[in-house]
Amino acid sequence: MSKTRRPLAENEIKAFKEQLLQEKEKLWEEIRQDLLDRVGEEYQDFIKTVKEEEDLAQADLDEEIWLGIVEARKAELEAIAHALWKIDKGDYGKCERCRRWICLERLQVRPQSVYCLDCKKELEQLNKL
Ligand SMILES: [Zn+2]
Repeated sequence: MSKTRRPLAENEIKAFKEQLLQEKEKLWEEIRQDLLDRVGEEYQDFIKTVKEEEDLAQADLDEEIWLGIVEARKAELEAIAHALWKIDKGDYGKCERCRRWICLERLQVRPQSVYCLDCKKELEQLNKL
């Protein structure tokens, strides 16, 4: 993988934002599918409208069920929310450890990355110790 470390252009950031929103939508689609399989008929119409965790909290669903289903994807959802927040803040694309630009190729594969590949490898090594 080549490494292109440079500031992102506005249109690139826009494309990553689009990609992140699509991934978020995909995750919620999976959550809705899981929920539809698990809840009673009276909730089916409601589930189809759910887009955020807060929506679920408002319904009188069995918390154990939806928390479990959301929890399984929580880390991904949070990573995406964090990346979107960084885009709004104008701080997107920089490694949160070394503050260098994350290479473009890495962001294309995983736009919610917060560390550059070097830092990620180092952190993985540290975690293994
Ligand atoms: Zn780094």
